[in-house]
Amino acid sequence: MKIMLAGGAGYIGTHTAIALIEAGHEVFVVDNFSNSCREAVRRVEKITGSEVRLYEADCCDYMSVRMIMSKEKPDSVVQMAGYKAVGESVAKPISYYRNNLDSTLTILEVMAECGVKSIVFSSSATVYGEDNPVPYTEDMPRGRCSNPYGWTKSMIEQILEDAAAADPSLSVVLLRYFNPVGAHESGLIGEDPQGIPNNLMPYITQVAVGRRDKLTVFGGDYDTPDGTCRRDYIHVMDLADGHARAVDYAAAHKGSAIFNLGTGIPYSVLDMVNAFSDACGHPLNYVIGDRRAGDLQDCWADAEKAGRILGWKATRGIAEMCRDSWNWQRNNPKGYADSEEDSDEEDDEE
Ligand code: UDP
Repeated sequence: MKIMLAGGAGYIGTHTAIALIEAGHEVFVVDNFSNSCREAVRRVEKITGSEVRLYEADCCDYMSVRMIMSKEKPDSVVQMAGYKAVGESVAKPISYYRNNLDSTLTILEVMAECGVKSIVFSSSATVYGEDNPVPYTEDMPRGRCSNPYGWTKSMIEQILEDAAAADPSLSVVLLRYFNPVGAHESGLIGEDPQGIPNNLMPYITQVAVGRRDKLTVFGGDYDTPDGTCRRDYIHVMDLADGHARAVDYAAAHKGSAIFNLGTGIPYSVLDMVNAFSDACGHPLNYVIGDRRAGDLQDCWADAEKAGRILGWKATRGIAEMCRDSWNWQRNNPKGYADSEEDSDEEDDEE
């Protein structure tokens, strides 16, 4: 199949491109590089030996999306184009609602015009909200989210379910990501956040490589064995493989379906710090600080449904997650920044 990866130049998108290509699909990327770069897609081409056409366009821009989709005529869209920083979403809610909802609505409108009948959406475990008990199962109601980012995911899930209910020929798959970490085992691509990382793993890797002084662990007084929060960390290549299964599922099933993409195994912040120290071979400088506003104590998946229906299961453990995150950061201390300076525009299709 031919797959359009909307927002495909980012961390999850580039890894997903590899999994899709390795599963035999043809992939093209649409991205405005608001939090990503061309170099990452070039490296996907290097890893896979396949061409990945790259369109620089904003998925909120109806004319651009229509031009691209009518030219390429994809069989399916994987919609990952959106802002994702929780703290920023609290400061800039309008921008988050505008961008994340508009990009999805625009893609849905253009899909209807171009006869594209299948969409896989990057959702998040954050839609379970504050009230559901762990482990989360897909049949739990979407909960009260603690920030606008989470609400955009929750609202878009609703929009996509409504769209599927109204059009019996449409296939919608909602993938609820838990905490993606790690990198492709080549060390050529990985997570490269702009500015100070919000998420735990890129913060850890930047401390380990000397870009930051120390990690602050947000809260040591939670009701957990070591006092720190627990999450369901999942290797990004396992997550990427989940997308390949989801695209196949969407091709074969109409209507909407939800799948958790997690391991089902919780690890605490200190578990991650310790596993990472083992991977990089030296202790990590950290202090225990205050709790971060809006953090849940516990968040992990019941991963049974994806196993049963998609035939997908995460296979990489915490040691591989840390090893591959470290391999990427050690080989690319400044992320993609160095090679960006040498980049040119030659593979831009527009
Ligand atoms: N965390 C931390 N220090 C950091 C960043 C994150 O202690 O600098 C903790 C955070 O409190 C949470 C876990 O690491 O318990 C995962 O946080 P992240 O932001 O990566 O993902 P979240 O699950 O909050 O979306």
